[in-house]
Amino acid sequence: MVNREFKGEEAGMRILVSGAGVAGLSAGIDLARAGHTVEIVERAGHLRINGSPIDVRGDSVGVVERMGLLDEVTGRSITMTEGAKFVDDNGDVIAPQPMSETNDSDDDIEIPREDLMRVLRKALPEEAQLRFEDSVRTLTDDGDQVTVVFESGREGRYDLVVGADGAHSNVRRQAFGPEREFSRHLGLYVAIGAAPEEAAPENTAHSVHILNLPGRMACIGRYRDQALAIFTFRSEEIEYDHHDLAAQKRILTDFYGEDRQWRIPQLLSAAQADPELYFDAIAQIHMPTWHRGRVVLIGDAAHCATPMAGRGTSLALTGAWLLTEALTRHDGDHTAAFTEYERRQRPYSDKAQESANGGADLMVPATWEDIERRNARLLPAR
Ligand SMILES: Cc1cc2nc3c(=O)[nH]c(=O)nc-3n(C[C@H](O)[C@H](O)[C@H](O)COP(=O)(O)OP(=O)(O)OC[C@H]3O[C@@H](n4cnc5c(N)ncnc54)[C@H](O)[C@@H]3O)c2cc1C
Repeated sequence: MVNREFKGEEAGMRILVSGAGVAGLSAGIDLARAGHTVEIVERAGHLRINGSPIDVRGDSVGVVERMGLLDEVTGRSITMTEGAKFVDDNGDVIAPQPMSETNDSDDDIEIPREDLMRVLRKALPEEAQLRFEDSVRTLTDDGDQVTVVFESGREGRYDLVVGADGAHSNVRRQAFGPEREFSRHLGLYVAIGAAPEEAAPENTAHSVHILNLPGRMACIGRYRDQALAIFTFRSEEIEYDHHDLAAQKRILTDFYGEDRQWRIPQLLSAAQADPELYFDAIAQIHMPTWHRGRVVLIGDAAHCATPMAGRGTSLALTGAWLLTEALTRHDGDHTAAFTEYERRQRPYSDKAQESANGGADLMVPATWEDIERRNARLLPAR
C-alpha cells in the first residue's frame, strides 16, 4: 500500500535499513508505503521484542495515528507507572514514585515493548524485505550509490542507507567514526530480564516495586501475566564486548551477587537464566550531524537518550516519519531531505536527552543518606 501522503513524483529509491528495532521497523513501514524499495537487515536471528513496557509520548502519538496504528497501540496499552513504589528490605512500601518526575506529557501511551514490536512487524508491507542474521560488513559511498558488503558475503547497491541499529550502531561506526567519539556515559548500567510471575508482590496487576541500596536498585515490574527483573546500578564505564551475554551476566553478578535483601537473589537468578537479557550502559549518543553522503542515522543510533528519558521509542517513531516526509518533499535531493529531517528531529532529541538528567538521583541514589533524603522528599509528612 503506497501512502499518498508520502508519494512523491519520483519516489522509488532502493533503501537499506540496518536494524529491525522500533526505528528500523518504523522506517521500513513509512519508506515502503512512500513507494521506496526497502530492505531491512537485522543482526539477531529474530526480532528482539523483549524489554520493559515503553512510552509513546507527545507528538509521536500523532505519528502513530498517521501510520494508521493508533487503535492497535492504544488497544494494547497498560498503565504500569501509576503503581511504581519504593520498598524496604521487607517489601513494605516506603514511598511512591512521583509521576510528575517521570512524565511531563499528557499524551502518553504505555505499551509493552513486545506488543509495539508486533504491531510494527504486522504493519510492515509485504514488499519490504526483512533479513535476519546478517549485518553490514563494509559501506562504500561513491556519491551515486552505496555499495554494501554484508557479513553473509552478499553484496548490494543502494541509493540510501539508514542506520537504525541502536546505540552501538555499526553503520555509525563505519560512516562517522568510533562510538567513543559520540557516546556520553551517564554513570549507570541497566539490565532487564524475564522473572517468574510469582516473584512479583501479590494483588498487583500492573506494578513496579523498587528496592534501593547505595548506588544500586533492584526492581520487579509486573504487567498482565508477566514479571520483569530490572537492575540499575552506578558504575564508571566497564570494558566488555556488548555482544557477549555471558560477560554481561558476570557483571550483574559482580554488582548484586552478595545482596540477600528482599527478592534480589530470586531476581538475579531469573536474570541469569534469561537468554534474551537486555543489558547496556546508560549512555547517550551526541553527534554534530546524523547524515553523511547517502548514509543517515535514526533512533538510538543517532541520538540515544537512554531509558532514563523514557523517550527512545517516541524519538524512533518520529525520526522515521520525519525522514520519510523529508525524502518525499525533496524528491531526488537526499542531502536537502536529510538536512530537513535533522532540523525537525533535533528539538525532540535535545529535549529527550535533557530530560534524562537527574533520573539517577531519583532512581539510584548513591548513598544511604541520599536514599533517606529522596524518601523524605517524596513523603514529607512521614
Ligand atoms: C532487546 C531490547 C530491549 C530493550 N528494552 C528496553 C527497555 O526495557 N526500556 C527502554 O527504555 N529501552 C529499551 N530498549 C531500547 C529501546 O528499544 C530504544 O531506545 C528505542 O526503541 C529506539 O529504538 P531503536 O530502534 O533506535 O534501537 P534498538 O531498540 O536498540 O534497536 C536496534 C536494532 O538493531 C539491531 N542491530 C544492532 N546491531 C546491528 C547490526 N550490526 N546490524 C543489524 N542490526 C543490528 C538490534 O538487534 C536491534 O534489533 C531495548 C532495546 C532492545 C534491542
